[in-house]
Amino acid sequence: MSTRPDQFSTGDDPIASALAGFARAHGATVRVSLDPAYVVAADPAPTRRVALVSGGGSGHEPLHTGFVGRGGLDAAIPGQVFASPHNQQIFAGARAAALPGGVLLVVKNYTGDVINFRIAAERLRAEGIDVETVLVDDDLATENEAAETGRRGTGATVLVEKVLAAAADSGASLADLADLGRRVVAASRSLAVASRAHTAPGGTGPAFDLPAGQLEYGVGIHGERAVSTIDRPGSEEVVDRMLQELLAAVPATPTGYAVLVNGLGAATGLEVYSVLDRVAQGLDERGLTLAAALAGTYVAALDMRGFSITLTALEPGWVEHLAAPTATPALPSTEPVGTVVAAAAQADTGGREVRDDPFLTALGRLVSAAKPELTRLDQVTGDGDFGDNLDGGTRTALASRVAEDEPQPGLRAVEQAFLDHVGGSSGPLYGLLFQNLRTALTDGSGVDAVRAGLRSALEAVQRVGGARPGDRTMADTLHAAANSSGDAADLLRAAVDGAAATADLLPRRGRASYLGERALGTPDPGAVGVAIVLAALVEVIDPTVDAAALVNPWT
Ligand code: ADP
Ligand code: MG
Repeated sequence: MSTRPDQFSTGDDPIASALAGFARAHGATVRVSLDPAYVVAADPAPTRRVALVSGGGSGHEPLHTGFVGRGGLDAAIPGQVFASPHNQQIFAGARAAALPGGVLLVVKNYTGDVINFRIAAERLRAEGIDVETVLVDDDLATENEAAETGRRGTGATVLVEKVLAAAADSGASLADLADLGRRVVAASRSLAVASRAHTAPGGTGPAFDLPAGQLEYGVGIHGERAVSTIDRPGSEEVVDRMLQELLAAVPATPTGYAVLVNGLGAATGLEVYSVLDRVAQGLDERGLTLAAALAGTYVAALDMRGFSITLTALEPGWVEHLAAPTATPALPSTEPVGTVVAAAAQADTGGREVRDDPFLTALGRLVSAAKPELTRLDQVTGDGDFGDNLDGGTRTALASRVAEDEPQPGLRAVEQAFLDHVGGSSGPLYGLLFQNLRTALTDGSGVDAVRAGLRSALEAVQRVGGARPGDRTMADTLHAAANSSGDAADLLRAAVDGAAATADLLPRRGRASYLGERALGTPDPGAVGVAIVLAALVEVIDPTVDAAALVNPWT
């Protein structure tokens, strides 16, 4: 465990330098005061009568500073990491943002925040400013806390602030806004899980240790340990359980639900959207309506690896507030919930099966035999997927169909499979190889036609991928075989030699090019693959050649 802070903040005060950077990035949206530290909206809606002010410890960005601006907060007050802002900061920021209709404070339920915002409220009132407070206490994991402490305030803050901001823009009064905010809070609950704690603010490693395979279920946004640490179930099971508990805790509603899947700092976009999809399916399976959906990192817990789900049972009008436009650095507006277009059902195109095609069966056999070695070669010089790519494409081809009157059914099938379905750099390039071989063998026959096909394949591969012979790619085998003379066995021998010779070439294309000299000594997997393909082809055009023996170094 490192004792050095693992963070990239600059300057002596990471909060101040982040605020200064924030000011530089959002000059049209916010004004930043460094001492006392607060952020106010540069251009709030002129229709707004009441100022919305929130704040809390830092480390949860973009909450709250990122929510300041048109359609969002009028002021945000950042404390130190995970620590309440001082009442003096809150007082100064709220006074700077105050509007004639007063100030509404949105406070997450933590003792320090509650006390400091209350003192600031006393001071604002003493200045003649009307103040109301909405306390956000949505964390279901703390449902059974002592009544005096109550539930923690977490992800629902985003939805509460968004709804309030839109209502404030429509000119709502302080009393109406306070009532609205409290109703949104009452209708919202959140739950969070984490597989890894955040780095402690002092930078001395994870804030708590979680053994591999364990999940902190009901974790807090400051790394408060959850009530339970559970053996980690599959993600779908985790999401289903969270949704079930949230649904049981919020009121039933005919208007539908808003869902926020919130990353806690180190969850990826891929993950939070995927969780959202599972939540949407879960609601759908129960016959419930998803009326507004958000996924992203809005309330981080520094770099905690986990996510929270917030569920809000909507009242009429709230969806419109959630969708109202904003011009803030990070406060989201919801969009109409989209539908998913399932993949078009594979049309049965008719045609004939190719699984008995002699070329394809030979290719299938040789590729299967060579797959471990091709995988190994790509592990050394690339990312290890080449064997899977070549084998997968060949299998797809074997299971496919081609037109009844196709003169080259086997080559047509691999062409289709590789061009349409195989990924990696090699997949489509091999598709071009098969396409050119098919065309040449449709127009001609025998080894001359194969050479013509290889020549045009080499040109196509060069047009698309830019590789020249000598760059250590599949193009080297194509070049060697296309320029060979003699019979089919000679052509295959030239291909095998060309592929083997790539071991002495410096890589200049594809992933291997990053390796430089470290690739030397290992032949290029794509180049070897072409020799395997040609062995299958030679078996068919000249059965007297023992093609398999010629490629046996790799099979
Ligand atoms: P990826 O590198 O995307 O994982 P594969 O593993 O499927 O792709 O294929 C790697 C092979 O692709 C290499 O061994 C090389 O022969 C071939 N290749 C990569 N880039 C090029 C290129 N620009 N031109 C020709 N062949 C290339
Ligand atoms: Mg690869």
